[in-house]
Amino acid sequence: MKIRKTLLVWLAAPLALLALPALPAQSALRILACEPEWGALAQELGGSLVDVAVATSALQDPHQIQAKPSLIARARNADLVVCTGAELEIGWLPVLLQQSGNPRLQPGQPGNFAAADFVRKLDVPKQVDRSQGDVHPDGNPHIQTDPRNIAVIATALGARLALVDPAHAAQYQQRTAAFSQKWQANLQRWAVQARPLKGVAIAAHHKAYAYLEDWLGLSEVAVLEPKPGVEPSASHLEEVLNTLKARPAKMVIYSAYQDAKPDEWLSEHAHIPAVKLAFTVGGTDGAKDLTGLFDDTVTRLVGALK
Ligand SMILES: [Zn+2]
Repeated sequence: MKIRKTLLVWLAAPLALLALPALPAQSALRILACEPEWGALAQELGGSLVDVAVATSALQDPHQIQAKPSLIARARNADLVVCTGAELEIGWLPVLLQQSGNPRLQPGQPGNFAAADFVRKLDVPKQVDRSQGDVHPDGNPHIQTDPRNIAVIATALGARLALVDPAHAAQYQQRTAAFSQKWQANLQRWAVQARPLKGVAIAAHHKAYAYLEDWLGLSEVAVLEPKPGVEPSASHLEEVLNTLKARPAKMVIYSAYQDAKPDEWLSEHAHIPAVKLAFTVGGTDGAKDLTGLFDDTVTRLVGALK
């Protein structure tokens, strides 16, 4: 009898250990964001409930990323991947997801969130002709340049976090509501600040700002790239300069990750400012978070009018 009692104590000990609650660090939802803006949004909506890694920096071209081993390792144990979609990451994300062997992140699964699925796309081509350069057949993917899109995507992402991590659904709902309220106040403030930009003609380095232009009422009169993703030659820049003689622009805008030389050349010859925009969180010193991204963008654009 005595022996059997000892045996029971030994058996019960490991079971007691198993009943202990998991440590918070182990239970954090692991998120892999393709671009900094979605990493920032996931962090705002998830707070300490999430552990966010971002695949690209603001100084990298998000069209052209390598699916390197460190990224594959991160994708292997992620619970949720948050990307732009609309084929922005067509050159690297499918390979990354396939090599990760992680069934949770595959397209169609709750663990695969594509922000572009939730907003109205601009520049959708009537027919796709790859000879026209790096054309995006699902429409312009650079949706993060309009903060009204961020509002819609925040609501969708908040719901997705609650779906993949139901134990914390109430907290995600609360954080998403707080973000939405803050964002509505931001939108009102930016609308007032950006009023002088309405109807202003601009030239753009890449077709990266269709949504920003739509939001602020900017008029894009020239694009420096002859085809999407193809850097302008000297002769093409001369053509752009001629276009601007007929249809003058107030400024030329480019993104932090791009080589500014064509913009500086045009600035010098057309006598207009070249304006660097963050494009995403981290692109400039002022773009420290999502609010800072738009504060900085509006400030730079309005500043260029003076
Ligand atoms: Zn593009």
